[in-house]
Amino acid sequence: MSKINRQEILDILDEYDKEDITIATLGSHSSLHMFQGAKTEGFRTAAVCEKGREVPYQRFGVVDEIITVDKFSDIVNDEVQEQLKDLNSIVFPHGSFVAYAGLDNIETIFNVPMFGNRDILRWEAERDLERKLMTESGVRIPKKITDPAKIEGTVMVKFPGARGGRGYFVASSTEEYDEKIEAMKKRGWIEEEDIKEAHIEEYVLGCNYCIHYFFSGLKQDAEVLGMDSRYESTIDGLVRVPAKDQLDLNADPSYVVTGNHPVVIRESLLPQVFDIGDKITEGAKKLVPPGFNGPFCMQTLVTDNLEVVVFEMSARSDGGTNTFMNGSQYSYLYHGEPLSMGRRMALEIKNGIKEDRLDEIIT
Ligand code: ADP
Repeated sequence: MSKINRQEILDILDEYDKEDITIATLGSHSSLHMFQGAKTEGFRTAAVCEKGREVPYQRFGVVDEIITVDKFSDIVNDEVQEQLKDLNSIVFPHGSFVAYAGLDNIETIFNVPMFGNRDILRWEAERDLERKLMTESGVRIPKKITDPAKIEGTVMVKFPGARGGRGYFVASSTEEYDEKIEAMKKRGWIEEEDIKEAHIEEYVLGCNYCIHYFFSGLKQDAEVLGMDSRYESTIDGLVRVPAKDQLDLNADPSYVVTGNHPVVIRESLLPQVFDIGDKITEGAKKLVPPGFNGPFCMQTLVTDNLEVVVFEMSARSDGGTNTFMNGSQYSYLYHGEPLSMGRRMALEIKNGIKEDRLDEIIT
């Protein structure tokens, strides 16, 4: 199936009444602050909700319209798309939206105008593209080990797709790698066909900072809006067990994200934080024009050499943005009032309308 022609989206946007725009997304992931922020900026909001998942949106009073579907993936159905377009909707993408709508569908059949860059979503989903973007942008990432036989020092082993770290493991030798692959298979966390897709990289010992940037296409600036660190099961539970008892548990650590903590980084590291944002946005402009547009997140580990190493990125609103629904220390510095990622997105749409430049930031 062929890719959606950009002109088709712009034609649909052209038909919209710009005084009567709805901000819409799937009711999940990081949608609460998107709806709240959109309402604060004066937009109508619409949530596409799986039956039974409407409660938070109604109870927090952040949505005007609920479009109920049997399953989240129905958001790409013709009738749902028509309903969204009838409301003059601009869709705010987030992790669940991309997962349920499906990348292929977003690229080929979902023609509701979206905020962002449709083409960049694939660069997050495919590890080789993600590495290419980071390497060519000059961002420091963990070194890749191409062959399990060449493992020297501690490595992290990952498998395709964002799976909340399930099945990921740490190994320090080829023998340990082989043993753990077998153990993960037995546990049912990886399948035989996953093994050839195993990605092995340098284990970076450090603290986790997930940095939430907003790239303003209108201002051509990468803003740092907030940071979180992940609360992962079982690794964060294991560290509460005395070291001498950890072995008795006989549990391989897993990295299933269960929540997020807001965090601030040492002020002296902020030049590196801005440098990473500037490098990756410049790189993305060249590789996937027009590059980043709106929220993205660089997931990093900060070592005791105070080096910020990026191990993963999100090319859309990341779940960790939920740590600053009422604004973060950083968003306060820009705006002097509580500003969530969702509200920043709505503000960009508002400015795009005001400056008659909406076509530059819609995809
Ligand atoms: P997913 O995208 O599947 O959720 P991530 O790539 O975010 O998985 O990794 C899950 C967790 O594993 C991270 O939050 C981090 O704690 C840890 N991790 C990932 N890569 C490395 C690495 N190279 N070194 C050390 N820890 C890592």
